[in-house]
Amino acid sequence: MRESASPAFAPITAIEDAAALLRKAQRAIVLTGAGVSTPSGIPDFRSEGSGLWSRDEPLEVASLSIFRTAPERFFHWFRTLASQILDARPNAAHLALAEFETSGCIRAIITQNIDSLHQKAGSNHVVEMHGSLRTLSCTCCFKQHESERFLQPFIREGTLPLCPNCNGLLKPDVILFGEQLPQSAWNEAQRAARQCDLMLVAGSSLEVLPVAGLPMQALDRGAHLIIINHTPTYLNVRADVVIMGDVATTLPEIAKRALHG
Ligand SMILES: [Zn+2]
Repeated sequence: MRESASPAFAPITAIEDAAALLRKAQRAIVLTGAGVSTPSGIPDFRSEGSGLWSRDEPLEVASLSIFRTAPERFFHWFRTLASQILDARPNAAHLALAEFETSGCIRAIITQNIDSLHQKAGSNHVVEMHGSLRTLSCTCCFKQHESERFLQPFIREGTLPLCPNCNGLLKPDVILFGEQLPQSAWNEAQRAARQCDLMLVAGSSLEVLPVAGLPMQALDRGAHLIIINHTPTYLNVRADVVIMGDVATTLPEIAKRALHG
């Protein structure tokens, strides 16, 4: 394993190693976490000290039980996040990953993010483990609605989004704490992890289960592993390449070498 955490190692070597692995791979996939979207101005809402959690406890307010028992508290917290997500644009990391897919270098992106920035950057095959903000579903009649017409007034005025059909409360189609992952996305992610010959983990500390277990499934079947993240993960010791750095600067560098030579 080549570590770039210490300044004694030139990160350029790790970048070249990562590019070489991507060039060689036949069935590479990518797993992305909050770190890919923080350069776009979306805070990691599961991390302490991100600002979003200074007033409210994350596990509590972003949970299914708070949504059910005190929806005003949930929506009060959610308003800031929704506004940051709607304003966000893809950054260099998203663009590099989209280029990997267009060039046939990777097959799919499994993401823990709910911001649709991979799709906005041009990625087509994105498996969303925690849902997305694109739609809301009625908690009474279960009808699904495009979120666009509801989110702007909600962000502007703070009024709770209500179903035009039955006046029931609309819930964003994102997975809250205490909520099951969507079964089809989870099945697809597991299949991709078991079939890949290389997994690139970008901007995830691999702390949120069960998604954090996917790289282990890939490793158990002999896949290579590249990890790019600011902080160490439990699998750094098993990775072929570890780059402890910023995905928005690192991924374009890797793309330059893997795709252009
Ligand atoms: Zn309804």
